[in-house]
Amino acid sequence: MDMAQIEKLDEKFVLHTYARSKVAFTRGENARLYDIQGREYIDFGSGIAVCSIGHANPSLAQAIAKQAQNLLHTSNLYYIPNQALLAQKLVELYCENITQKPDMRVFFCNSGAEANECAIKIARKYGEGRDAYKIITLDSSFHGRTIASLKATGQEKMHEHFGPFPDGFIYAKDIDDIYNHIDSHTCAVLLELVQGEGGIAPMDKDKIIALSTYLKTKDILLMVDEVQTGIFRCGELFASKVYGIHPDVITTAKGLAGGVPIGAVLTSLIDIFTHGDHGSTFGGNPLSCAAGLETLEILHNLYTNKTLDKTINLFHTQLTSLVDDFPHIFTHKVGLGLMCGLYTQDPALQPLIIAAGLEHGVIVLKSGKGVVRFLPALTITNDEIDEGFARLRNALKSLKN
Ligand code: PLP
Repeated sequence: MDMAQIEKLDEKFVLHTYARSKVAFTRGENARLYDIQGREYIDFGSGIAVCSIGHANPSLAQAIAKQAQNLLHTSNLYYIPNQALLAQKLVELYCENITQKPDMRVFFCNSGAEANECAIKIARKYGEGRDAYKIITLDSSFHGRTIASLKATGQEKMHEHFGPFPDGFIYAKDIDDIYNHIDSHTCAVLLELVQGEGGIAPMDKDKIIALSTYLKTKDILLMVDEVQTGIFRCGELFASKVYGIHPDVITTAKGLAGGVPIGAVLTSLIDIFTHGDHGSTFGGNPLSCAAGLETLEILHNLYTNKTLDKTINLFHTQLTSLVDDFPHIFTHKVGLGLMCGLYTQDPALQPLIIAAGLEHGVIVLKSGKGVVRFLPALTITNDEIDEGFARLRNALKSLKN
């Protein structure tokens, strides 16, 4: 198939929910992607933070193939060894370097939105009996596209066309404003520590710690959406660990199985659900959990041998020098770990930079109004970083002043 044929098929048979760039990739190798015409790209997007250990990682491919040759799926009606092992691994990694190790349980699903749905259910069940049902989220947040997670998303323009929505979602302007919305009906606060769609600026650490302490005194759950920030993307297993907080609920997904669909909810509310309260047909099946186990193993090694730290430092050095060298294009750098962004001088530049990047063989993403987002594979090599930034510089030079 050539590009024109793919476009025609897509146009005729796929619902038009995405504004796609005119490119189709056929293979990859770590942070390199190759399109249908054989053109090579350095991928600074990793499928929006999904391909955490790069494309076509040989040991992940082997783990998936091995599992597929044995058993893809059974059902959550039966015990699933890989699921139990992945839950153990997530909890043990979470408890690493924590003195008072919390007792935690994990629920598995297939996506970020589903993980947040589970969190919303946990919050509602937690508040049951004392009429506490309100969940506070933040403006510019993004929590998913199911009806409840969309309603939790603090971007009211995204709610057009799809109401009526479930009640009880309240939006705060920022962390300080959360306090203004708390009342006796509040059961939880749900937030991202670095907003993926909302501009990549990390939340203030002191304010988050203060909020976490305050919510505990009020018996209100702190639920952190780590769908994008989690699984070592911010330099630790979860951004919550960077902030030194222990949320009651953490949701995660994207990078957990390196590209195989998966979602997970970690909670210290170990008895919140009873049999039948929640479930998922595919969630935590042998295949996705085999992929999760291999992905975590690789990422944890990168973390413990400090390669991840070095990669983060190099990436940030490159971003800083880009801001220094292109002050007419960028104002400043933001981000945490390998979830980074560059603010543009003019939001109109954002799509031009993304298109010019693609033209020059480097993939970058958008975030919010006018931010260029970078979410490379955590396994990206120094050479791939240097090559990607060299291409991006050429792309920026090609933009008319
Ligand atoms: N929460 C956050 C912070 C996200 O970034 C996303 C996806 O981009 C989601 C939730 C929804 O995840 P999914 O698209 O897997 O449902």
